[in-house]
Amino acid sequence: MAELTDLTAEEAIAAIGAGEVSSVELTEAHLARAESDTWHSFLEVDRERALAAARRIDAAPERPPLAGVPVGIKDALSTKDLTTTSGSKILEGFRPVYTATCVARLEAAGAVVLGKTNMDEFAMGSSCENSAYGPTRNPWDLDRVPGGSSGGSASSVSARQVPWSLGSDTGGSIRQPAALCGIVGMKPTYGAVSRYGLIAFASSLDQVGPFARTVRDSALLLQHMVGHDPMDSTSIDLPEPIALPSRERLDGLRVGVIEELMGEGVDAGVRATVETALAAMESLGATLHPVHIPHAKYALATYYLIAPAECSANLARFDGIRYGHRTADAHDLLETYERTRSEGFGPEVKRRIMLGTFALASGYYDAYYGQAQRVRTLMVRDFDDIFSEVDVVASPTSPSVAFPLGERTADPYTMYLSDICTIPMSLAGLPAMSIPCGLSDGLPVGLQLAGPALSENRLFEAAHATELALGFDTRPGGTA
Ligand code: GLN
Repeated sequence: MAELTDLTAEEAIAAIGAGEVSSVELTEAHLARAESDTWHSFLEVDRERALAAARRIDAAPERPPLAGVPVGIKDALSTKDLTTTSGSKILEGFRPVYTATCVARLEAAGAVVLGKTNMDEFAMGSSCENSAYGPTRNPWDLDRVPGGSSGGSASSVSARQVPWSLGSDTGGSIRQPAALCGIVGMKPTYGAVSRYGLIAFASSLDQVGPFARTVRDSALLLQHMVGHDPMDSTSIDLPEPIALPSRERLDGLRVGVIEELMGEGVDAGVRATVETALAAMESLGATLHPVHIPHAKYALATYYLIAPAECSANLARFDGIRYGHRTADAHDLLETYERTRSEGFGPEVKRRIMLGTFALASGYYDAYYGQAQRVRTLMVRDFDDIFSEVDVVASPTSPSVAFPLGERTADPYTMYLSDICTIPMSLAGLPAMSIPCGLSDGLPVGLQLAGPALSENRLFEAAHATELALGFDTRPGGTA
């Protein structure tokens, strides 16, 4: 048998089912890699907790569906008994009193949580460099970023520290790091996965989703997370269960190629690689159609009003009284708030809180937040029009391949442009995923596929057939 850490989750479940390996052995093999600090994917690895879970599963009379396969969890997800910081100093050492619904569901289905993965502070960023605990490195090139904000979750899967992991995506934070690390990342329809226990960034956009090395693994992980949760009133039941994709052809599938995301601002190497992938879809029987998002040019501005506005409200709870860090140096309540927040938050989080507070101020509310919400509706309509003509849309996931550490930290606007291709789907609440589709300059390029709300199964089928045709090797070239 191959190295245990090379197995996909599906292969690992089969190996456990056939009695070739135990959950404890599988967990031990992944722990050994997860404890390596080469990539700094993890903020915390809890060996004892993971092995105890694996032993329980091995001893149980019946095997749960996920059979004791290890998983990595983004540190934005609350986990009882495991430190949860959301990448922020303000939550250093914080232990939640409950576990996020999606994580609890995975544990109930037999997933073994290895630990918590690194991320940009409160999920604000595109490179993992905004973590208060130092950046994560891209397994394809240790001097480059893994993408963000779920950079640790992406690198942990790419570096084979876990076969799969959870991230959260507000404007691209699953899809963009998946693209930069050469793996599969999926953001479900808004509401498909409960947000209960996800530390909120922008509540009308945040969604939890899977990272994996195959499309089928990502469907399998999602299968065990979705569905209504009484603790999140925005969560919904899907019209049908998530199925594992199996089709190898795409006959009759109408693929809309988003013209606005194939031109200016997208690196030539990325565009050429995506075009090759689109040709592969065509050779499987799909038809390609140029489509337009007329309001795409406002997507970034709209997102950077809505997301900071919602974050300024959500982050008001970090006041030094209820959770985490409290300043040692205050004489009254107001000073406690001010000093705690100025010591605890990093520069990007402060920038967003200030932007959001400004956009929500009573005199400006309608001109900024109200206007952004109206443009958001126009973008939803753009997609409604598109999906009256095609079944899925395609574009690059990221306009560039992984960039060098430090390259964009001094220039927030350039950093914000990293999500130019992923934000439109977030604003419209659509399911969208990134699959690796080739290399440019030796670094992975992601193909983004998106569909109408609740079209998860269609999307997985399209992505699976394309993945088979492309045959991308997810092993990081030379460094793993
Ligand atoms: N990079 C975007 C931002 O900084 C998206 C982040 C995310 O999806 N959480 O807001």
